[in-house]
Amino acid sequence: MYDAIKRHLAVEKLVTREGSEGQERKYYRFRPARWYGGIVTADCVGCGLLCRFCWVSDAVMARPAEVGRFHTSRHVANTLTALAKKFSFNQLRVSGGEPTIGKAHMLMLLDELKGKGYRFILETNGIPIAHNESYAKKLSNYPFVHVRVSLKGCNEEEFAALTGAKPEDFKLQLKSLQKLVEANVSCHPSIMASFSPKKNLEALMERIRLISPELARTAEIEELILYPHVVKRIKKHGLEYHGAHSP
Ligand code: SF4
Repeated sequence: MYDAIKRHLAVEKLVTREGSEGQERKYYRFRPARWYGGIVTADCVGCGLLCRFCWVSDAVMARPAEVGRFHTSRHVANTLTALAKKFSFNQLRVSGGEPTIGKAHMLMLLDELKGKGYRFILETNGIPIAHNESYAKKLSNYPFVHVRVSLKGCNEEEFAALTGAKPEDFKLQLKSLQKLVEANVSCHPSIMASFSPKKNLEALMERIRLISPELARTAEIEELILYPHVVKRIKKHGLEYHGAHSP
């Protein structure tokens, strides 16, 4: 078992670097995507969790130092907005890895996008937001940002089985929601519930309700997508699911 914060910090060293315009981050792809009714997506390299149902390829997941290219925030913003114009989308996101790794880079990216009329979805596992004192507060400076915190299972035990991280690190995911709510950042939890009995989901909803009834009302249920490499991974780890989608 690994410590989720320590692993995020270690991965950060591999996927960020200082450049002449500030912190750069590694990305491996820019693309239009059908999610959210149409959204332009920059896929970043590197995450501090190792979810056993993650859709990211083995190469991106296991060898972040060897995959992708470093980009400035300005380049990422320009590429995202150029694609948005081309496909007539008004939503942007960073996905593929954990976008909140490289806080300076992410905040510079949001500065670049400020006032341009886009909605930005920040999809995160929440760990860096929980760990970094000022992250949630800084995000509140960007009203066009909505944060989707993706919870890995419904409790500590499920979190450990799904990610291989220490069970108690599940609390960091909930802590990030607490911090975002306190900082008045638009957000909602998304719960990977494909592996969870109903009673565990209900118990989690109670914990979320204690943070904010609005979060419980807006919670999204996420289900496994059975990409061939995902099926292999969950089989390897002996995980059983009860609900899933075809790719
Ligand atoms: S947090 Fe997301 S990107 Fe990271 S391993 Fe889990 S599913 Fe993959």
